[in-house]
Order: sequence, then C-alpha cells, then structure tokens
Amino acid sequence: MDDGSTTGCGCPPWCAGHDDSQEPRPPLGHRGEPIMLTVVERRYAFFSSGRTDALATTEFVVAAEQDRRGSYVYLGALEDVGRFFALTRDSARLLHSALGAALTSME
Ligand SMILES: [Zn+2]
Repeated sequence: MDDGSTTGCGCPPWCAGHDDSQEPRPPLGHRGEPIMLTVVERRYAFFSSGRTDALATTEFVVAAEQDRRGSYVYLGALEDVGRFFALTRDSARLLHSALGAALTSME
C-alpha cells in the first residue's frame, strides 16, 4: 500500500489506496477499506456420497468500489474470489431494503 495519500491520483475520498508496484497509474479502479464479516450460510456442496446443503461459516468482504463504469458495493467470499456480487448503488439500496423487509417479516 502507499502512504495513504490520494492527491493527484484521482481517487475518491473513501479509496483505501493502491499498491504502486502492482497496479497501473492512474488506477483502473478504487476500493474502500474492506469490512469483514463472518457469516453462516446454507451452501450446496457435492461429495461422492451426494449433495448436501449444510450450514457453513464463511468470511465475507464488503467494500465500496468504483471503476470507469460506475460505483458498486462489493460483497464476496474471502476465500473464493469467483463468488461475489458487485451491486450498483441503486441495486445495493434495493437489496438493503429487501433484507430489512425480510428480517422484519420473520420477527
Ligand atoms: Zn484509488
């Protein structure tokens, strides 16, 4: 990571910075400080004995992101970079509202 200075790189104020040795300048995208969550999810797994949908504990990452196409809220599994959502702000707000409604309905 750099020294945290974002002056002159075009970073949004929430950008957590860039590794100059691994990323082009100017950067192609920006990511905020990650928020780590330990969640319990029902997840399908396949074994030689068959399929299961057992509960599993997983580390998730939530972070603000931005690239040339727009701004997103990233939500993905820490150990599986192929399993993620990158929702636009409007979509993230819809999901936030739907999660609240679903949780309220369960009370
Ligand atoms: Zn940045």
